[in-house]
Amino acid sequence: MALLSREIDVAIVGAGLSGLSAARALAATGVDVAVLEARDRVGGRTLSRKVGRDVLDLGGQWIGPTQDHVARLAEELGVHTFPQYAHGRRLIMRGGEVASYRGFLPKVPVLDRAEAVLRIAQLERLARQIALDAPGRHRKATIWDRMTVADYVGSIRRAGARDLLTIATEMVFAAEPHEISFLYFLYYLRAGGGLIKLTEVRGGAQERRFVEGAQALSIRMARDLGAAVHLDVAIGAIEQDGRGVTLRTSRGPVRARYAIVAIPPALSARVDLGAARTAARARVERDMPMGSVIKCLATYPRPFWRDAGLSGEAITSDGVVRATFDDSSHDGRQAALVAFVIGDAARRWSRQPAEARRAAVLADLVRLFGPAAGHPDQYVDQDWLAEPYSGGCYVGVMAPGVLAEHAAALREPAGRIHFAGTESATAWVGYFDGAISAGQRAAAELLERIRG
Ligand SMILES: Cc1cc2nc3c(=O)[nH]c(=O)nc-3n(C[C@H](O)[C@H](O)[C@H](O)COP(=O)(O)OP(=O)(O)OC[C@H]3O[C@@H](n4cnc5c(N)ncnc54)[C@H](O)[C@@H]3O)c2cc1C
Repeated sequence: MALLSREIDVAIVGAGLSGLSAARALAATGVDVAVLEARDRVGGRTLSRKVGRDVLDLGGQWIGPTQDHVARLAEELGVHTFPQYAHGRRLIMRGGEVASYRGFLPKVPVLDRAEAVLRIAQLERLARQIALDAPGRHRKATIWDRMTVADYVGSIRRAGARDLLTIATEMVFAAEPHEISFLYFLYYLRAGGGLIKLTEVRGGAQERRFVEGAQALSIRMARDLGAAVHLDVAIGAIEQDGRGVTLRTSRGPVRARYAIVAIPPALSARVDLGAARTAARARVERDMPMGSVIKCLATYPRPFWRDAGLSGEAITSDGVVRATFDDSSHDGRQAALVAFVIGDAARRWSRQPAEARRAAVLADLVRLFGPAAGHPDQYVDQDWLAEPYSGGCYVGVMAPGVLAEHAAALREPAGRIHFAGTESATAWVGYFDGAISAGQRAAAELLERIRG
């Protein structure tokens, strides 16, 4: 039987936060929509699962101030938030040594620290100069777009300052500095309010978590959309003619007047758009590969690090794990740590047996937090590189040579096809908030066309 026997107004590819937000906005105005999702679940890069006694996030998990789209959506859907635990000292592991610190900057030699402060201030200043709707307009855009973040880090004199900026870059992008255009780096910082905001807990992007897990946002939007959401439907091609679009899906053709493609550029590259794909769009899709992350969760009988005056937050420059945070329940039901394996390390460990990966991650947690960390009640990890419909994570990361010239192709419609997804946002690019605002923007574009 055909998936849909009627022609609909808008077919939306992808039931992540972006596609579902687009569908929600359109359905609210009476537009006939269908969301087509390749996986057997909604939520995309959010994935919440019961681990021990609590629901934990194996994908995205935090929200922070100025992320008004996601905060509003959570409120509308009755999904609750609570503060990320951030009391006590943080840890840094560098050169095999573990040191604790308070405040934003870890203990590194005083001159290294001074240079790190200056460089962060410089990056915040440069990022503020980038226009989000036209990053190529800056007079140095072409120069910065030829550089990578590694080139910038290489210009830093003190090793401690270089290490801190490298760790911060890896944490924020889940990619290596040499993979990221320096212009894209500044653009991304600008879209989220700066480097400090992107890396911090209090007042930053890691300030709050969801009690019900981040996937609850998508699950509840899908519940409200009911029969309009179709799982296990992969889109392979979108054809266009004068009256509409035909989506070639794994369950037969779907006919609609318009389509919204709400998936990252690296994945839309695999969808045949025929002549509608412009050269600029093809460049963006080719040169914006996904980052690399394995997210690891370990639950414990009690939060022993808190007893030692530690917040659970750690960064490392030489471990398998790049960063950790306290991931305990909002009501004290369960103690947990979350650890991130990122970039080259994620690519290396993605190919290793799960047991070896677990041993390597726990060994780092023991180095940081002591022997108790080696004996979790539960341990799970999520390798986002192994997910064909994510192709890595957290986000698409632009290589040099694309943004200065082709930024508009991130969201410029291709005939009857409009683009959403967090990579196409102009605020909080890469985050839940950007995914939602991009979905709403694509919905508004189509409403104008449908009504106009
Ligand atoms: C480990 C991790 C940590 C993160 N941490 C945070 C965080 O703390 N805070 C934050 O704000 N963000 C975080 N993020 C990023 C955040 O999860 C994403 O920005 C957001 O979920 C993206 O939503 P989206 O709808 O744009 O894309 P997606 O969630 O990727 O949705 C796209 C959907 O399209 C589907 N799809 C793909 N190809 C096809 C096809 N051909 N046919 C049909 N369907 C298809 C996919 O299965 C998917 O469901 C994190 C991500 C990860 C993985």
